[in-house]
Formats: sequence, structure tokens, C-alpha cells
Amino acid sequence: MTVAPPTGGVLADRYGRVARDLRVSLTDKCNLRCTYCMPAEGLPWLAGPQLLSDDEIVRLVRLAVRHLGVAEVRFTGGEPLIRPGLVDIVAAVAALEPRPRISLTTNGLGLDRLAPALRAAGLDRVNVSLDTLDAGRFARLTRRDRLADVLAGLTGAVAAGLSPIKINTVLMRGVNDDEAPALLRFALAQGYELRFIEQMPLDAQHGWDRATMVTADEILAALRTGFDLAPDPADRGAAPAETWLVDGGPGRVGVIGSVTRPFCGDCDRTRLTADGQVRACLFATEESDLRAALRAGADDDELARRWRTAMWGKRAGHGIDDPAFLQPARPMSAIGG
Ligand code: SAM
Repeated sequence: MTVAPPTGGVLADRYGRVARDLRVSLTDKCNLRCTYCMPAEGLPWLAGPQLLSDDEIVRLVRLAVRHLGVAEVRFTGGEPLIRPGLVDIVAAVAALEPRPRISLTTNGLGLDRLAPALRAAGLDRVNVSLDTLDAGRFARLTRRDRLADVLAGLTGAVAAGLSPIKINTVLMRGVNDDEAPALLRFALAQGYELRFIEQMPLDAQHGWDRATMVTADEILAALRTGFDLAPDPADRGAAPAETWLVDGGPGRVGVIGSVTRPFCGDCDRTRLTADGQVRACLFATEESDLRAALRAGADDDELARRWRTAMWGKRAGHGIDDPAFLQPARPMSAIGG
């Protein structure tokens, strides 16, 4: 294997992985205040000029798709639905050749109104985050009384044809860890694919504690109190979720054990923050500034060179178990979850 970054082609790293899945954060702002993500007062948001413009985002995604082998684009944030240019950005990305698959991770607020336009623009599917089905608990957990709006968003996404719809759930001890079977029952009844995500050390408050984190094993044990789970024979590929067939299938449930069952060896993700920084990993402590290069007049070859170099430096693993692990300076909401 060569030791220098490749001068052409796809986004390879020195461990033989190739990044084909691009996560693009469209904003660091959010209209919820989930207690495990950010403080009640929010965070010091990026100022307008720091954000990539819609055209700058489309230019970088075009580069990634045409020249760097990216085949899947997922918009996230912060909350991507609050980005005013979202529908136009999706339409521009859907017009690219080769056309990437396009998805969105959202808290679902306003999705009932936006889903038809997003679908018409070319959005293929959505992941909606939902940690509880209890309205009071939802209000305490997100500091906003909006459960009904999220449920309306899910219904709107189905009506618009944004399927398969995945639901992302983070379980927290003593908060919502008694709800795993109820959430799965709800998801199966509605035809959603539920994914439980282990809580990661990416909160703005630095309050994550491995000792109290609800582990993948605990999630599976809780689900097995109500369901029969069998390993899903389908090939997992680079998917972060391990999946199980529920009660013989075809319903499924997934667990993303980022901490206790890391899947870094198969990771195919590259990330672009709302202010134009490439990150090779959620937990990277280094970023590569494409915005500065782009605004200084860099051509596509130069931007591609920088992106390849950033990915070549991707570490073998996230290192959460390493005693020297350092939580990245940016929280999840600013990186793009
Ligand atoms: N606002 C959008 C949403 O709610 O899906 C997109 C951004 S949000 C940061 C993406 C996902 O990250 C959500 O499912 C959220 O629950 C999850 N998340 C936030 N902080 C997390 C943490 N510390 N560990 C694991 N997942 C986290």
C-alpha cells in the first residue's frame, strides 16, 4: 500500500476503506433541545457568513458525486428542515449524474408540510428521530411539547412516499429505557424500521458516562421480553445497524452499537459540516477546511485533492475505548448526526 494519499479517484483511506456515503450538515441549529444533545439555551450558533451557501453545498456535493465516488448523500444537522434552501438543494443534488441516493435525518417537525415538496425534488427517504411515545416525557426530553408534530411528520412522510422510513431512538437509563418494546410495537404497526442508537460521547455538555449508557446487549434483552429476535440473514454491508428479524419477520429492528459493537472497519462515511469542513469520522479531532479553499478560488481538482487527503488520514477506529480518547470539540449537532 502506498503511504501518500492517492492523487486521483475515490475517497480511500490507508486501511482499505472507501467512503461512498456523504453526510452533509445543513445547519448547526435545531428547534428541539434534547437534553442529551444540547443545553436548554442552545449553543453559540455559526454566523451566517460562516455557513456554506446553497450553491457552495451543491458544488461540493457535485464534486463528491462526480469525481470522488460518493453514491449516497444524507442531509442532516442540526435540524435540516429549518434550512430555507433545503428543497432546492435536494433538487440540485437529484439532478446530478450519476444520481446519488438522497436521504434526510430529521426530528420530523414540519415534515408533514415539507414532505411532498421534498419528494417531488428527489428525496428518496427519511430517518426520523423519536425517543419516546409519551407526550410528557417527550416534552421533558426535548424541552419542547411537540410529540404530536413529530407523529404528524411521520404520517406526512408516508403519504408522500418517502419510504422505507427509519426511526432513530436513543435510550437513556431512567429516562426512556423502559420503552424499547413499546417503540418497536409502534414501529412494526406503522411499517417503520426502528433503530436503537447507543448514546455516544458527543453531547455539548460533556455529560456522557459509559457506566450509565444503555448498551446494545441491554437493548436486545429488553426487546426479547416482548419479541422473538433472530439475526437478519441479509448482508449488513457498511450499514451501522445490526438488524434482527422480529417474530420471524418480515418486520425488523436494528441496533447501532457504536460504542460496544463498533463497526469502524466497515465505515464508508465522509462528512461535510455546515461551515464546509470535511471530517473523516464523527469522532475526528481534525477537520479539513474546504470552505476557505473554495472561497479562495480553488478549482475542483484542488478541492478533490484536499478531500482525498482528509480521508486518507482517517483513523482505524473511533478510539472511544482508548484511555487517551478525547471527545471532539464540536458536539453532534454541529458535526451533523
Ligand atoms: N435534528 C435531526 C434529528 O433529530 O434527527 C438531525 C441531527 S440529530 C444530531 C441526529 C441523531 O443524532 C438523532 O437521532 C439524535 O437522537 C442523535 N444523537 C444526538 N446526540 C447523540 C448522542 N450523544 N449519541 C447518540 N445519538 C445522538
